[in-house]
Amino acid sequence: MIEIKNLKTGYHVSGHEKIVGNDLNAELKKGELTCLIGPNGSGKSTLLRTIASFMPKLDGEILIDGRNLDDFSASELSRLISIVLTDNSSIHNLSVFDVVSMGRMPYTGFWGYLNARDRQIVDDCLEMVGVKHLASHMIDALSDGERQKVMIAKAIAQQTPVILLDEPTAFLYYPNKVAVVLLLRKLAHEMNKTILLSIHDIDIALQIADNIWMIEDDGKLIVGDPAQLCDSGIIARHIVNDNIEFDREGRTFYVKAK
Ligand code: ADP
Ligand code: MG
Repeated sequence: MIEIKNLKTGYHVSGHEKIVGNDLNAELKKGELTCLIGPNGSGKSTLLRTIASFMPKLDGEILIDGRNLDDFSASELSRLISIVLTDNSSIHNLSVFDVVSMGRMPYTGFWGYLNARDRQIVDDCLEMVGVKHLASHMIDALSDGERQKVMIAKAIAQQTPVILLDEPTAFLYYPNKVAVVLLLRKLAHEMNKTILLSIHDIDIALQIADNIWMIEDDGKLIVGDPAQLCDSGIIARHIVNDNIEFDREGRTFYVKAK
């Protein structure tokens, strides 16, 4: 469904190109959960924002069902791709229901008048991610985990076939990280969504993702399913050091006791 070809990502800084990702080639398929991993500063957020059309690419192609991303209007894109960013701190003084309702904006227009169907969709999304009991709570009064779930409900309410999420498990307690990624996997598998999320919890990604996109230190993108990346030794090569051992079978890491 989404193909990136020879993609170059980055920024224009005082008239010069600052290249972050170069010659990136990969695919996202419908109904699959893909996890994007890589060191801090390797360009995960930049890549997600570029695919979401939040920032321009420097070169190459992003194709959605064979059509160039640049050829979609803003209104088409809002019905195609939703993105959940790490920093949700800009939303204040709104109830959980209102925040999730914002996901309906591509359908309700700027003033956001919800009809009965929109309200039903918002209700269903709250239910689906398990935060319906918080509907009337203020967003500022939630825990990080609850707020993250609400932002995911908002993305689901937008009813886009593609959902991109930048570190949706950051700041969460381990069981909550697993719950969030399992929820996203369920959405991909049961609602046939295309989901790409960046994550630092590599052990969770290796156990739950259908595919892994891994950005290496040199900015190269390696793509494969978790078994391929574990069996080929690529994961071990990047993570293992004097402090860390990797159990291939269990797809998990151990800190070497000194
Ligand atoms: P990650 O999400 O993997 O931690 P980022 O995509 O945030 O990495 O950053 C990749 C690189 O792009 C870093 O070197 C970062 O400093 C740089 N960068 C991020 N945002 C900007 C910006 N607005 N202008 C210039 N460089 C940026
Ligand atoms: Mg980032």
